[in-house]
Amino acid sequence: MGDRRKPIFVTGGASGLGREVSRYFASKGWFVGIADINPDGMAQTAAMLPAGQSSIHLLDVTNREQWKQALADFTATTGGKIDVLFNNAGIGSGGAIQDMDDSDIDRQIAINLTGVINGIRAGFEYLKNTPDSCVLNTSSAAGIYGVGGLSVYSATKFAVRGLTESHDIEWRELGIKSRSLMPGFIDTNIIGNIEPGSNQTGKEKLESAGIEVSPVEIIGPAAWQAVHGKKVHTTVNKMAKQLAFAARWFPGRLRNQRTGLVEGLETIVSSGT
Ligand code: NAD
Repeated sequence: MGDRRKPIFVTGGASGLGREVSRYFASKGWFVGIADINPDGMAQTAAMLPAGQSSIHLLDVTNREQWKQALADFTATTGGKIDVLFNNAGIGSGGAIQDMDDSDIDRQIAINLTGVINGIRAGFEYLKNTPDSCVLNTSSAAGIYGVGGLSVYSATKFAVRGLTESHDIEWRELGIKSRSLMPGFIDTNIIGNIEPGSNQTGKEKLESAGIEVSPVEIIGPAAWQAVHGKKVHTTVNKMAKQLAFAARWFPGRLRNQRTGLVEGLETIVSSGT
């Protein structure tokens, strides 16, 4: 690790995957900038990390001025360096596109896609000034093949996948890697949005349809491997790996999904891909 604590800046650090990656990298000795719109959640994450190994940054990833301020504050304590910029904040909701609210569509694109672009641009000079730095973006299994009932979310995650590939090429000469995580379902707050109004939780609904929901602990080692390995995209959990395999070799099976998010995923799982 050399003579300095490596810094990682984590958006969506108040919950779920961001919290877990913060915890994991801190356990490896890294210094973590926890960024989110949720101050209480950030304080809880910080309390899980060793003392003196984190800072907290109130940041709405859609706000470019807040990005500049947050990274200036963070790098003031890291000697101007960022080893990993983890663009992870995201929201997800679905339904038929014709039935979605305009505001819901705009917000998903603003957070899941524009928020990532904002972070990459705000972080560029710090990444460039850090040897062997890495942008890690959270895409999704929904960025591997389109998912019925989740089209806008899926589109944002495809876009994040594209950004990752482009920057991995563009910035190679600058010594900045670009990587994505493509998780299947993981047990965090976001899956509570699956078919709200049902008397089952999102996790119960998915599991009763035979769809795997992985424990959040799966993400720390996956993020570590993504940052330190050579692959541009890291699929996380069995379902994501099955999807990637099927998208490559049996795309017809994926096209035969039934409509509806859970029903469609049930088809994929039961088709044995
Ligand atoms: P989560 O809801 O537990 O955490 C998301 C965090 O993002 C929250 O702390 C929230 O406050 C924060 N956030 C939301 N809007 C923000 C904004 N404008 N600015 C800053 N922070 C904001 O969900 P999660 O599962 O931890 O989601 C993290 C990422 O993982 C998302 O990009 C999500 O799309 C992706 N993902 C999750 C799963 C899964 O099954 N959990 C699967 C694939 C991809």
